[in-house]
Amino acid sequence: MSRTAESVWNNCLAFIEDNITSQAFKTWFEPIKAVKLTDNALSIQVPSKFFYEWLEEHYVKILKVALTKELGATAKLVYIIRMENTYGNKQPFTEKIPSANRSNLTSQEVDVPLKNKSPELKNPFVIPGIRNVKIESQLNPNYNFESFLEGESNRLARSAGLAVANKPGGTSFNPLLIFGGVGLGKTHLGHAIGVDIKDKYPEKTVLYISAEKFTQQYIESVKKNNRNDFIHFYQIIDVLIVDDIQLLSGKAGTQDVFFHIFNHLHQNGKQVILTSDKAPVDMIDIEQRLLSRFKWGLSAELNHPDYDTRVAIIKNKLYRDGVEMPDDIIEFLANNIKTNIRELEGAIISLIAHSSFNKKEITIELARKIVDNYVKHTKREVSIDYIQKVVSDYFQMDVDTLQSKTRKRHIVQARQLAMFFAKKFTKASLASIGSQIGQRDHATVLHACKTVDNLSSTDKQFRKYVEDLSKKLTL
Ligand code: ADP
Ligand code: MG
Repeated sequence: MSRTAESVWNNCLAFIEDNITSQAFKTWFEPIKAVKLTDNALSIQVPSKFFYEWLEEHYVKILKVALTKELGATAKLVYIIRMENTYGNKQPFTEKIPSANRSNLTSQEVDVPLKNKSPELKNPFVIPGIRNVKIESQLNPNYNFESFLEGESNRLARSAGLAVANKPGGTSFNPLLIFGGVGLGKTHLGHAIGVDIKDKYPEKTVLYISAEKFTQQYIESVKKNNRNDFIHFYQIIDVLIVDDIQLLSGKAGTQDVFFHIFNHLHQNGKQVILTSDKAPVDMIDIEQRLLSRFKWGLSAELNHPDYDTRVAIIKNKLYRDGVEMPDDIIEFLANNIKTNIRELEGAIISLIAHSSFNKKEITIELARKIVDNYVKHTKREVSIDYIQKVVSDYFQMDVDTLQSKTRKRHIVQARQLAMFFAKKFTKASLASIGSQIGQRDHATVLHACKTVDNLSSTDKQFRKYVEDLSKKLTL
């Protein structure tokens, strides 16, 4: 039976797999391809120079044992490095390490530790070339857990963040991936975790970096020919927080380098925290091997904050700024800016600014003007969904309750009001309104409209409901 490179390598793999952790095996051995077998030399292809160095540094012994078992005492291993394409060169090219190089596995060389690597550690943040510089965490102390209000929308992400902060690298939330839309608190939460860790474990090296800056640093390191220093720098971090990881999409070189850094940190029990504006399944142009690693830990979503959380966030902001604002204005803001906390904060700030410049009281008219500036681009259309949302918010129930079959009086009234406003503010037919508000028929809608008309002329409290809701819906 003739032996092929592949069969020899597969036997080696079987042996190695039994002797190292499955994580290490996946990371460092699965990507290797056996390409050639001549005499006693097996050639294997590895994805990058870094990969080769890593194998030499950490796995040379086990490689030697495995290969010697297969090919005898004169066994040799030749690495073929598939260079990444970072120089604008479209074609990947290969480079063969000459056989005189230390990467050839011979019996004498194996036991000699290869220590002449990574001479100087370069920190892309500070003066290059100085060892043991304290690494600045780049954290914003104001973005902490205390100022990150809890709500249904962020409960999972927030508590996972707290768990990670209590035991960095020691939970199964590694990496912790926080994802969600713009302005929902990803950056804030990422910082909060870092700030908390710094507090609890001052000796740990924590680093916050945006994926954008990471990319720039990487490109710089390639230009300056010190890519390895760049990698080594990141490999000594205990807690790495990378913000907006989706920005790595389409950047193969940066993804490759990040892949190696990630593996190193993960394997050494270091904590990685990532944020992204989309879930891993929706990320485009990110290599599969990287995506699969993003999914190793926990992906926690930040959702749109519910009404109560929005009110709490506004009140908290006002409190911190030492400003008072009438409740109805707070409600108005919370009702009208729903999908972006940054916009919500922006509206509060400009409201305060306007009123203090013009020495005017903060009024609902002023609030309306300002909110228009923030939400104009999404021009609120009055849809039946929107009506149901406003009505259920108003009565502090959720839309499901409003639509439910219950006969509880206040729920029935809320449902009838929603139908009434749907008739009043949309062009939908009675039948269509009925089907959208809890699967009712057109007669039920007609009855609802009459009931609302009647009650508004006889019941003062009810009339107030109608007026309030009309105002909210026509703002
Ligand atoms: P993202 O990174 O998701 O775009 P940010 O983290 O920059 O969002 O958050 C936008 C703004 O909203 C920040 O000023 C942040 O402090 C604030 N914010 C977000 N979530 C909360 C929260 N749960 N409690 C208080 N403020 C929040
Ligand atoms: Mg952000």
